[in-house]
Amino acid sequence: MKIIDGKACAQQIKNQIAKEVEKINAIGFRVPKMAIMLVGDRADSVSYVRSKEKTCKSLGMDCDTYIFPENTPEQEVMDLISRLNQDCNVDAMLIQLPLPAHYDSAKILDSIDYRKDADGLHLMNVGLLHLGEPYVMPCTPKGIMSLLETNGIEVAGKHAVVIGRSQLVGEPTAQLLIRQNATVTLCHSHTNNLSQITRIADIVITAAGSPNLLKAEDFKEGAILIDVAINRTDDGLEGDVYSPRTREALEQRLSAATPVPGGVGPMTIAMLMQNVLDMYKIKNKKSLDF
Ligand code: NAD
Repeated sequence: MKIIDGKACAQQIKNQIAKEVEKINAIGFRVPKMAIMLVGDRADSVSYVRSKEKTCKSLGMDCDTYIFPENTPEQEVMDLISRLNQDCNVDAMLIQLPLPAHYDSAKILDSIDYRKDADGLHLMNVGLLHLGEPYVMPCTPKGIMSLLETNGIEVAGKHAVVIGRSQLVGEPTAQLLIRQNATVTLCHSHTNNLSQITRIADIVITAAGSPNLLKAEDFKEGAILIDVAINRTDDGLEGDVYSPRTREALEQRLSAATPVPGGVGPMTIAMLMQNVLDMYKIKNKKSLDF
């Protein structure tokens, strides 16, 4: 079984971004800038935000982070988004999810100018993706497609089973696979006989957030597993399928798999950085000749 090394693949993408930013800097232009907003102090969200900010700066790009207490009125955050929308020095922004329960997440996401929507979650970007004309792609699905491509995994004509139908991961991943001519089955928590479906799949993409979801025998011989999930268990981080316990049995059954950690996770952040640079380049395309 080939281990699909997301960390190495993400590093290559980040190196390329850093080179492009260096060129931008060398010709005397301002570098790309992202704004990150966080409401509340959930430990996992704080850690994701810190990691995005650190990566952005390590690639030579600018990043401003705004942290609001949990009880901040929604309007205060909307006012900041409105200012950032108008700030021509800000190329891209994101608000860390999940938002507190008293927030209307869709309203907040849709108040971001869709041309600065680094996560690709604005209604307009969701619509464009469904039409097959994406302006910006959500980072995790984009990272999954990039991993498949870089590792020479052809999806056209294959039966791909996606488990999970969230707007963040499952649904847009299914859309991207359809556009690349895969035959896609989208499964979710109401799917009956899940393992009967995965047993006839060439590629299985799991994004359920449910450890021990499937066993090695629930896959066809030679199938490919992309395990998106990050489950925090007593034994550490595990995927929906991939864990130190299951690795040996998976090795006998599959032709390739992403590990957890070190598979899709690093690609998500690399794709976010790519989105920031791409948005900057679209805005400045008249002045840049690369
Ligand atoms: P979500 O809770 O919004 O969606 C989960 C989906 O899985 C739902 O559609 C649900 O119907 C389905 N599901 C749940 N249990 C199931 C089961 N037993 N059988 C079949 N379907 C089931 O979660 P999300 O935001 O899409 O995230 C999914 C997982 O991916 C989580 O573990 C999350 O931590 C991880 N994630 C990883 C990355 C990354 O960069 N690697 C990025 C985003 C999310």
